[in-house]
Amino acid sequence: MRTLVVGAGLYGAVCAQELRRRGHAVRVIEKRDHIGGNVFTRWVPEVGTHEHVYGAHIFHTSSDRIWEYVNRFTRFNHYTNRVKVRHGDRLYSFPVNLFTVYQVFGVADPEAARAAIEADRVPCEAPRNMEEHCLSVIGRELYLLFIEGYTQKQWGRHPRELPADIVKRLPVRLTFDDNYFDDRYQGIPVGGYTAMVEAMLDGVDVSLGVDFLAERERWEAGHDLVVYTGAIDAYFGHALGHLAYRSLRFERELLPVPDFQGGAVVNYTEAHVPFTRILEHKHFDLNLRSPATLITREYPKAWTPGDIEYYPVNDETSRAIYRRYAEAADGLARRVHFGGRLGQYRYYDMHQVIGAALAFVERLG
Ligand code: UDP
Repeated sequence: MRTLVVGAGLYGAVCAQELRRRGHAVRVIEKRDHIGGNVFTRWVPEVGTHEHVYGAHIFHTSSDRIWEYVNRFTRFNHYTNRVKVRHGDRLYSFPVNLFTVYQVFGVADPEAARAAIEADRVPCEAPRNMEEHCLSVIGRELYLLFIEGYTQKQWGRHPRELPADIVKRLPVRLTFDDNYFDDRYQGIPVGGYTAMVEAMLDGVDVSLGVDFLAERERWEAGHDLVVYTGAIDAYFGHALGHLAYRSLRFERELLPVPDFQGGAVVNYTEAHVPFTRILEHKHFDLNLRSPATLITREYPKAWTPGDIEYYPVNDETSRAIYRRYAEAADGLARRVHFGGRLGQYRYYDMHQVIGAALAFVERLG
């Protein structure tokens, strides 16, 4: 079968690898001038580190199968995400854990910590939005310190206007465990994500700088199956409306100091600070040897045409529009499969993208 994969990000690369192994003649085309999509990393010789060019990517999964799968293409280091929060001139342990409660309420005994949060909670039987959810789980003080401002910056709207799901991915623990993730496996590819995706695309014909939508008919006519990983609304020329996305702007800075902030990620949760976080890339690589460092400030922004779509905004309106696109996709005469964060309009993590790609290939038989 002649198969075209549109997009050389994780979804596309896994499909390309697996379909090739199953005997498809696979061709990958990619709009950008590099593979890897938003997990793309590049080597920065001045610092001797990989740069997460489109924002922090920390691989984590609890699935043996997915962990074994990615380990076929790269080794992982033992990086564990331990984020700190900067609020005013204070620094906090995050996500909310016993040390955070100690810093905010001055109690470190787990029962006393539970009671401190309990006294600040605004109970709610059935939270209708992110604010109600947070107030009922972590209480007002922690919500105001950590969630309200950051979320407003990140999503461009108040937590009252957002679904609770977005924040449910963050753990809340009354132990000193400050791991950002609950998953069994976690790490960053030694050698960077680009090398991992390169290994996935080994033996596959990849063309960079090719805009599928500019010549869609021609590409589709020449293939039996198309795996499209771009934005689903763009595929249909936005005929059924625009889906909402958030975009990001990154400001990178090389600094002549060996260590700027002591860890890879510091979140700035106050609404008036225009960026949401500062990344310090060498900490992802666990390599502090260089006397210089590279940091990136991450500024969320509204998505406008031409920007990279980073996050699907899963509000009611967009979900309804997406459902209509999904129906239109099912009704296509040609075999076009929509996959990945943009093709399926889902706030996927990397391990979920890989899981979804493997499931798709299996369904194909
Ligand atoms: N969040 C927050 N404060 C923080 C970190 C996260 O309010 O310091 C909320 C915010 O709404 C964010 C969501 O939790 O969008 C999920 O955070 P995560 O770090 O998983 O987002 P990502 O790394 O995917 O941008």
